[in-house]
Amino acid sequence: MLRLSELSAWYGHSHVLQGISLEVNPGEIVTLIGRNGAGKTTTLRAVMGLVDKRRGQVHFDGAEILAEPAHSRYHRGLAYVPEDRRIVPGLTVLENLRLGIIAGARRAEEVAMIDRIAETFPRLKQRLGQEATTLSGGEQQMLAIGRAMMARPKMILLDEPSEGIMPILVEEMFDLFRQMKAEGTTILLVEQNVELALGISDRAYIMDQGTIVHHAAAASLLADKAIQERYCAV
Ligand code: ATP
Repeated sequence: MLRLSELSAWYGHSHVLQGISLEVNPGEIVTLIGRNGAGKTTTLRAVMGLVDKRRGQVHFDGAEILAEPAHSRYHRGLAYVPEDRRIVPGLTVLENLRLGIIAGARRAEEVAMIDRIAETFPRLKQRLGQEATTLSGGEQQMLAIGRAMMARPKMILLDEPSEGIMPILVEEMFDLFRQMKAEGTTILLVEQNVELALGISDRAYIMDQGTIVHHAAAASLLADKAIQERYCAV
């Protein structure tokens, strides 16, 4: 579904991603883990076309997309939930959800997706008319995920979905990721909560200083405390 080959990215003169190669197969959940500053967010941003200077190859669903403008990825079925959620102030929860619909979708489809998201996130259902920035952090994260789901993506990139969210909501959210996988959505996850992330993942890649240093089945990494201590401590 997604294949990165020798992906590099720069911020100004700083060569942050130094040739990342990884694959995510259809229907998999794959986690990227690594210490602060390892380059996880930059990897997701480079895949989405949001880092100006990038080189290498990004193959998504049969097409080479590295050089395409950022918005074209949504039309291809690749969605992104950034760490800062990007909830639009001044709009209600419902209006924010509607922003996720891709141009050309039918009205009936939009209504069906909003119903589906409202069923998935009862907290949002009760607050559809509320100004979205007045939601709690966890509710805003659900809104950001719900908005990404509106386009019925084939694949979703999630950056630190558990950050700042109370444990009970985090568990609900991870249950949702499992459910999305069961329905065929492919997921690439960046997550500091390594045990939780590995618990729902098929495989994981470990990043350090802008490179991939290790990859393995999630279950074997979960059992490997030495590698977790070396590369995953915050
Ligand atoms: P964290 O877990 O802390 O979010 P990360 O693995 O996601 O870390 P990145 O955010 O990808 O790491 O950052 C990788 C490197 O790029 C870091 O050294 C960071 O300081 C640098 N960096 C990130 N964004 C920018 C930017 N806009 N301009 C310059 N340098 C940046």
